[in-house]
Amino acid sequence: MSVGNEQIVGYWVEHEIDLAIDWSEAHERCWRCGYKAELEQCPVVPAALGGTDTADNLVLLCGRCRREAPSHQDPQYLWRWLRATSVSSYDTYWTMRGWKEFEVIFGRKPLECFKEAEIDHRSLNAECRALAADEFAKTVIHFGEGRLNPSTIACVIAEIEKKLADRHGIELP
Ligand SMILES: [Zn+2]
Repeated sequence: MSVGNEQIVGYWVEHEIDLAIDWSEAHERCWRCGYKAELEQCPVVPAALGGTDTADNLVLLCGRCRREAPSHQDPQYLWRWLRATSVSSYDTYWTMRGWKEFEVIFGRKPLECFKEAEIDHRSLNAECRALAADEFAKTVIHFGEGRLNPSTIACVIAEIEKKLADRHGIELP
């Protein structure tokens, strides 16, 4: 017999596991990235390694986080990963991942070179937001993913940065 998502939330609410998710929204938001998503039941210990299909062995994650979750026979790793990587600020996680991916791809932090140029931080943020819509229009979400992946977000950041650099006469490395 399968367990409902509400039962899983109900079980863990009573077990005081210290996660970033607000329990009142834990039935509709991923326990890891905090985004509203179609939630999947992710086993703490996989069935193939002896895990049961009961609330005490299930957590609720979006498809993407589920694919990144550890699959190990020792339950401590899933919990450790969840506590270390889950976020309490909603709807920013994957953008932050895109920001980090930019550093991996380009070997520097985005917009770093604007710091020395003494451009007002707030007006730069506003310019970024204004450019974002056009730049997001040049991307496409992978089939079945629901939202852009971090490397695509990194490309968007790179394009925005390029436009801002042109506009303010800044040379990018
Ligand atoms: Zn997620």
